[in-house]
Amino acid sequence: MMVAAIGRTIRTPENLCPHCGYKLDACSVPFSLDSPSVGDLSVCIDCAGLLQFGKGLVVQALAQDVILDLMLTDPSTYAQLMQFQAAALAAKEGDR
Ligand SMILES: [Zn+2]
Repeated sequence: MMVAAIGRTIRTPENLCPHCGYKLDACSVPFSLDSPSVGDLSVCIDCAGLLQFGKGLVVQALAQDVILDLMLTDPSTYAQLMQFQAAALAAKEGDR
């Protein structure tokens, strides 16, 4: 599969994007260390939906209250996440 060249690409257990159903078996991880861990944030490369890794590295839709909390408590991380989302959207535009 194609993975947008944003951030670092890391293989993950295969699962489906909760936003669009796209099959994800790799991800670009904006701010984890060596591999995604539970609670880490990501962006779907197909729909640019915000994701969070849950148990077993199954992605979940990033909850609105988590996004709000991030915005308030960690604005730089939030800004980075928004940058990744914009990059995912731009990459998708570039496919057309
Ligand atoms: Zn998606």
